[in-house]
Amino acid sequence: MNHVTRIVIIGGGPGGYEAALVAARLGAKVTVVDRGGVGGAAVLTDCVPSKTLIATADVMTTMQDAPELGVEVNGRGRCEPGVDLARVNDRVLALAARQSEDITEDLVKAGVEIVRGTGRLVADGGVARAVEVAAEDGSTLLCEADAVLLATGARPRELAAARPDGERILTWTQVYGLRELPQELIVVGSGVTGAEFAGAYQALGSQVTLVSSRDRVLPGEDQDAAAVLEEVFQRRGMRVLSRSRAASAVRDGDRVLVTLEDGRTVSGTHCLMAVGSLPNTEELGLEEAGVQTTPSGHIVVDRVSRTTASNVYAAGDCTGLLALASVAAMQGRIAVYHALGEAVWPINLKRVSANIFTSPEIATVGRTTFNAESDDPHFDVVKLPLDTNPRAKMLGFRDGFVKLYARPGSGTVLGGVIVAPRASELIHSVSMAVDMHLTVDQVASVFTVYPSLSGSVAEAARRLHRDERED
Ligand SMILES: Cc1cc2nc3c(=O)[nH]c(=O)nc-3n(C[C@H](O)[C@H](O)[C@H](O)COP(=O)(O)OP(=O)(O)OC[C@H]3O[C@@H](n4cnc5c(N)ncnc54)[C@H](O)[C@@H]3O)c2cc1C
Repeated sequence: MNHVTRIVIIGGGPGGYEAALVAARLGAKVTVVDRGGVGGAAVLTDCVPSKTLIATADVMTTMQDAPELGVEVNGRGRCEPGVDLARVNDRVLALAARQSEDITEDLVKAGVEIVRGTGRLVADGGVARAVEVAAEDGSTLLCEADAVLLATGARPRELAAARPDGERILTWTQVYGLRELPQELIVVGSGVTGAEFAGAYQALGSQVTLVSSRDRVLPGEDQDAAAVLEEVFQRRGMRVLSRSRAASAVRDGDRVLVTLEDGRTVSGTHCLMAVGSLPNTEELGLEEAGVQTTPSGHIVVDRVSRTTASNVYAAGDCTGLLALASVAAMQGRIAVYHALGEAVWPINLKRVSANIFTSPEIATVGRTTFNAESDDPHFDVVKLPLDTNPRAKMLGFRDGFVKLYARPGSGTVLGGVIVAPRASELIHSVSMAVDMHLTVDQVASVFTVYPSLSGSVAEAARRLHRDERED
């Protein structure tokens, strides 16, 4: 009799639920143990809610920029929209809940068992053989497993001197409880999450101060793109405090006082702390099962999602590979393919496309760490400002660019950065080129619509043709 492989997955976010669907389709008996809600933080508190909020912010930006195109509301040459944040947040939360229900439905249809509770590995002689689930009602359940996938995600990092109270000092998971727009919002942290929320609330109508410990917003991202965004932020009235590390945030009645390490203070009505995240890897029974973690608490995995313990895999933010839902899902799928003896391609981070949902958006794929001004001999780079594109001119888009990287000689496309409205959609052609090892000539030879923003991708590729490069 064939043995059906029993896979138990701790965590129902993208790292867990995508793996569960694939494993069930491949004939495994799959159990997903989750305590926070199917869809995970990605669907319920992080990715889906923030992008839904940003959808409203994008409409506001379009309306604020509309007078330039001749639109006027409320009188001559003015367009002054406003938001009802209670309705915006109700929509955000309803959409996230529906998304969670849809995923639950898909899992149930696929035959996946969903168990609500907190899971931990149970090791027998140093080998993980089951997952113990502590349910909210105090009961426990033992789920035996041939393979376990840990996909427990991460949570916002909190500073001892800036404890969120859920009302005025907030983490990004708490902002959807707000019923009124913060008048003066201080965002601490200028990484992707801080930048996205700062831009969104500025567009919604808050007066935003962004506290950045670095020289520029978005440290670690493409510097040309970060420069564009910082300029746009400031032009729209945001106060950006660079080289300013927050030491504390303290509530004082209806206000919050943020004190910087150099003693300066910033006062606002609300403060959003976006200072990174911590992996949910405590109390999972990792040590007893022989699962190693890094000093930061992330689970050590190889490129096929194996941990240091046999038959225990890990995927997503708990591994710290790259905190993206798409990467979590890919790691999870790879884990179950491997566990079930299917053919598997190790994860390749050089092909990941990612997007920062600011206005303009910043989308990247492949090789992007080199600045356009860099004369690194291993890369050819071209950067086309967006305002040279006819469609962008018609739409009133000024800020942004298309940047392509190619291998000298062969002209193989290595990566790209697109800074533009809806860059997340435009990057796909570059992602295809990187993934399929296309050359700049092949990309340039594809018809693009005239006029279109994607025309700039083809034009950048054309400029990278050996004979047409300026240098
Ligand atoms: C504000 C914000 C916006 C983001 N936007 C994007 C975006 O636009 N695009 C993108 O690709 N990525 C985005 N990300 C990143 C993305 O949300 C994460 O990479 C993704 O959630 C990781 O998925 P995961 O499955 O590892 O974990 P999660 O989605 O965090 O899910 C983990 C689940 O495990 C559960 N769990 C934890 N411990 C246990 C336990 N012991 N027992 C049972 N259950 C447990 C949790 O309750 C949770 O339900 C964003 C992140 C943030 C913070």
